[in-house]
Amino acid sequence: MEKCKCLLIEDDPTIQSLFALLLKDEYVLEISATGQAGLKMDLIKNPDFIILDLGLPDIDGMQVIAEVRKYSQKPIIVVTARDEDQEKVTALDLGADDYLTKPFSIEEMLARLRVIKRRLKSNLLNGTSFTDGRLRISYESCQVTVDDKEVHLTPTEYRLLVYLSRNAGKVITYKMLLSELRSGVTPELMDYDMGSLRVYMASLRKKIEPNISKPSYIITHLGIGYRLAYHDENDND
Ligand code: CA
Repeated sequence: MEKCKCLLIEDDPTIQSLFALLLKDEYVLEISATGQAGLKMDLIKNPDFIILDLGLPDIDGMQVIAEVRKYSQKPIIVVTARDEDQEKVTALDLGADDYLTKPFSIEEMLARLRVIKRRLKSNLLNGTSFTDGRLRISYESCQVTVDDKEVHLTPTEYRLLVYLSRNAGKVITYKMLLSELRSGVTPELMDYDMGSLRVYMASLRKKIEPNISKPSYIITHLGIGYRLAYHDENDND
């Protein structure tokens, strides 16, 4: 199989060599130390995905996300030294897929990259169904099954699940989920708020999670949002 192409935009030489060492066998890696050069490199080399440091010497990493999103939906993983939720939320709302907080473990980083690879392979947006582990969603018949048993979801629960599954592996912020819920209703019904989102999420989890006290499908990112995890993302494939 052809190797995945990755562009790392990062000015810290230590992190550059870490990635170069870890990714050399499985990925083709291009490195840029500035945002401007990174954007140029993205156009010339067209990598499959980008790992982006937010604190760059020239332009802000946020600007890089916004620029790339003008022409491409390729996955972007943000690397940030600042453990601030608001910054992650801003990056995700701009279109980043996931984030790593420095210092991160190598295992954690490799797990995130496996998720990205899965996303690249699966073509989620155009598929007619989503199947992963015990969960299956047929977008055509609006049918959801867990362990081959049909699960009955309310229209709102179903919309949440479809939105998360179309973006499986990607961290979805509260704001994105709320605007998705609000997009389908008439203005006078726009009463979805954080409280109701939590309630819908709790009832959705009750219906699809094998173990409700330890959710394995819908993962909470505290203060940020939710992510539909691949059931086997921690396996080495
Ligand atoms: Ca930096």
